[in-house]
Amino acid sequence: MLNISELPLQPSGSSGRLLQPLWDHLLSHHLPLISSPFLPVLLAFSSYFFFSVPFAALDLLGERVPSFYKYKIQPDRRPTVGMMAKCFIRAMYNHMFFVLPAVIIAMFILPAPRLPQDAPTLYEVIIDGLAILLLFDTQYYVWHFIHHKHSRLYRWIHAIHHEYMAPFSWSTEQLSIPELMTVGLWSNQDPVLLKCHPLTTWLTTVFSIWMSVEDHIGYDLPWTLNHLVPFGLLGGAPAHDMHHQQPSSNYAPFFSHWDRIFGTAVPQQKKTLKR
Ligand SMILES: [Zn+2]
Ligand SMILES: [Zn+2]
Repeated sequence: MLNISELPLQPSGSSGRLLQPLWDHLLSHHLPLISSPFLPVLLAFSSYFFFSVPFAALDLLGERVPSFYKYKIQPDRRPTVGMMAKCFIRAMYNHMFFVLPAVIIAMFILPAPRLPQDAPTLYEVIIDGLAILLLFDTQYYVWHFIHHKHSRLYRWIHAIHHEYMAPFSWSTEQLSIPELMTVGLWSNQDPVLLKCHPLTTWLTTVFSIWMSVEDHIGYDLPWTLNHLVPFGLLGGAPAHDMHHQQPSSNYAPFFSHWDRIFGTAVPQQKKTLKR
């Protein structure tokens, strides 16, 4: 589980790296947590939960908060409490009965995670994190395209994610078990393949869950990442909402380049509330 030879006897704190104090603190005070194979799952699931809650509140308040509701992409389709509960219960069930057992099996098969003495530099976190996101985006684009083009694969594996034409935050993890296990495998093994620092991996996990939830919030808020990052490099909620309305479009989860290159990019068509 833990490669003791990699651990410092004393936290170094002297490498001049901005994240070194944080890393030293984690090594000194939270070693059982950060060396646990369950940490990535805990991070991913709690991020999904905490990022989804505020948008669920927005959905429930609806037109009572007009300053937010005016940004709703499909205002005539609002999720009910029952739809939200169904998605959350499915996500809980899948994690308890499939993801956690898979982690336990992986503990006996995969090598123990390495915890180096030095923290990553900020530059490493950004560049390696970007590499993880770009690789995942490419893998999911191909997987997603195939699962929409092959009718049986679509029905058996991906259709469940398209149960709702208007996505909402909890529907981010409305996934079949094979889809959840596939994205989980990539999320765990891509950073290993790219030889990323564990801290970079964890930060990228949280950030990628934020991006996934943002894809599904159903609001085109002006301060979301797709508006903050220039040149439309990120698809965000407008692109992914469109994918749920027109499933043969916008296959990429995060970036927009593959959809632009292969001609599958479709811009958002904002709907107005019918009165
Ligand atoms: Zn979706
Ligand atoms: Zn799809």
